[in-house]
Amino acid sequence: MTIIKETAIHIPVSSCCNNDCRFCMEPHIDHKVNLDRKFIFRILKKYMFERADRVLFTNKEPTLNPDLPRYIEYAKKIGYKKIALVTNGRRFSSLPYCRDLLQKGLNHITVSIHGPDPRIHDLLTRRKGSFQETLKGLKNLSSLKKYFGFTFITSTVLSRPNYPHTGRMLKLLSGFPADQIILQCIECRGRKMSRNFSSLMIRYSDVIKEIKKTDRNYKGPRFHVLGLPYCVAGKGGKNFHLGYTENIKLLGNKGRLNLIDYSSKYGTLKRKECARCRAFLFCRGIFKPYIRHYGWKELKP
Ligand code: SF4
Repeated sequence: MTIIKETAIHIPVSSCCNNDCRFCMEPHIDHKVNLDRKFIFRILKKYMFERADRVLFTNKEPTLNPDLPRYIEYAKKIGYKKIALVTNGRRFSSLPYCRDLLQKGLNHITVSIHGPDPRIHDLLTRRKGSFQETLKGLKNLSSLKKYFGFTFITSTVLSRPNYPHTGRMLKLLSGFPADQIILQCIECRGRKMSRNFSSLMIRYSDVIKEIKKTDRNYKGPRFHVLGLPYCVAGKGGKNFHLGYTENIKLLGNKGRLNLIDYSSKYGTLKRKECARCRAFLFCRGIFKPYIRHYGWKELKP
């Protein structure tokens, strides 16, 4: 288990998305995001002086905001060292767009990809053609990696439709020069998740079983598995390690920073046996709908 402690300023810069993922934890249109340009410039400046380690442009699909290149450029100008983006990668299917953001200072990119082929990926994103665009985006980033010093990460949410294809997924992803491959176990939160719970949620012990099976024959770069409770996940394996958490400060709409506390924000649970667990202090607890559905049986300290 690696714990990365750093302070990241997450700035929401988009209120909509060109995918409509079945498991998305945010509403499709987010009316609450403050997209005022002056506000975002001001926030960037304010937290630069409060020793933020990095700025992450996020919320829905940030590349849909036409001002994103200007924010990146400004963040670089005022001294942010790490300028990061979480994206579905579809807009990176345009090579000039990709190059423009990198030239302006983007240096840390996480691309979400949820299936090893169009059938599975597009089923989860609910957008036909999204797989092809994301794949093209990954290819463009790969081709630019040697010219720009940026870190690039792939992130895959493991859910019922795609987890039996973990091996194929890793085979596809290991063909790119990504700095990290992340497999993230699906979380039971958000309105869509409660609507689609039974078609998406998987038992934690089944996920780790599949990952260990894949690990036996896997020859690619080391990958990371996140979102599994420590009592189920154990210590990691030959080619993967488990879990990392970071000290995230989220920027609310009024420009105030908050630390994420899962138990109060999402109602996660621990039980009395958890008190003797080695991971007690790190564990964020188990989502209530998961416990209602699967119980505590597999969760033993
Ligand atoms: S604290 Fe409880 S739920 Fe968390 S890892 Fe330990 S036993 Fe599992």
